[in-house]
Amino acid sequence: MCESNRLKRFLEVYIPTEKCNLTCSYCYVTQEGSASGAITPIGHTPMEIRKALSRERLGGVCLLNFCAGGETLLGEDLLPVIHELLKEGHYIQIVTNGTITKRFLEISTWNDNLLERLFFKFSFHFIELKKRNCLELFYNNVRLMRNRGCSISVEIMPHDELIPYIDEIKEVSLKNFNALPHLTVGRNNNTKGLELLSALTKEQYESVWSSFDSEMFRYKMSVFGKEQKQFCYAGEWSCSLRIDTGDLYQCNGSVCIDNIYDRVDEALHFRPVGSHCPYSHCWNCHAYLCLGVIPDSEAPTYAAMRDRECTDGSRWLTRRFSELFNQKLKDNNMEYTAKEKSLMNENRDSDEWQGIPEYKSCRQNFANIMRRLREALRSK
Ligand code: SF4
Ligand code: SF4
Repeated sequence: MCESNRLKRFLEVYIPTEKCNLTCSYCYVTQEGSASGAITPIGHTPMEIRKALSRERLGGVCLLNFCAGGETLLGEDLLPVIHELLKEGHYIQIVTNGTITKRFLEISTWNDNLLERLFFKFSFHFIELKKRNCLELFYNNVRLMRNRGCSISVEIMPHDELIPYIDEIKEVSLKNFNALPHLTVGRNNNTKGLELLSALTKEQYESVWSSFDSEMFRYKMSVFGKEQKQFCYAGEWSCSLRIDTGDLYQCNGSVCIDNIYDRVDEALHFRPVGSHCPYSHCWNCHAYLCLGVIPDSEAPTYAAMRDRECTDGSRWLTRRFSELFNQKLKDNNMEYTAKEKSLMNENRDSDEWQGIPEYKSCRQNFANIMRRLREALRSK
């Protein structure tokens, strides 16, 4: 495999804008009324961000997933950043509701060699799009990106209101995407336990939605509500990043380990979570676990979460993305010995292993940041 396609790390990049042009009933930005808020500027130039996230500094080619609290492509300042990071040689994934046509038109003018490293996760908010008469616009934007050589995946948040539309969704999906959408799993964060975002029982929920034959749905249901206690390399092989403050977290906004904008000429300080995952549920398991942040956890590939074979024989993932998403992070990173892991787990509470104190911004609204990240990932 050539070096330019060898996946070194996965970065979940959070854009702190909560504004959105849709108002999906199951989304926290709608429920809290923040969808109509302001767009938060990134606040750093594309070149500054490219330098902070250079291949040299990150140790190689990375997959960076850009996802906002609201709609990712609303802000004017994101595309120049994506363009610069593609030029750096990274692979970029954008989570979007697929409705901001002017952004897709702009992207369509970029060079082919950049577009082949761009992947879109189109969230298919069927009821909202139908209500606003925007279904054709969505289909056209998906088609445009696919025709320009980008990889795509279409994903639905299965929720009870959508059940009467299942047949219609299948029909329009086969017609417009040449395949059925993948399905995520909704979790109700307002309940004490890890309950499904549904009035159905787990068995009923599985029975209704399994007709989409989505590997993503199958895997997410199989690990739903399960604690992960094995050694996790999140914080080293993967991180979450707030693009505006530059704070770099081990996982989903938990424990700040560095700041990408500080000392840009120095290496970043990575530090794995180890066997102490702070969460009761790896809600973003389809990315983290499938890319292999827990090498001992059996999981399908990330390609299986995203790809579909189309009715015309083509695939949603291009050959390059298929090769990238079929890798596991352990293929390109060193695993620790049992003794090293044990030492890391023991020392995690010592001073040496605390979050670096100078990154004060990680402590501002800390609980709020964690909640926002969690909600944004859940609702995408
Ligand atoms: S789910 Fe996505 S598209 Fe729908 S309102 Fe929330 S942020 Fe917007
Ligand atoms: S949530 Fe998942 S990726 Fe994050 S630390 Fe826990 S097991 Fe690792």
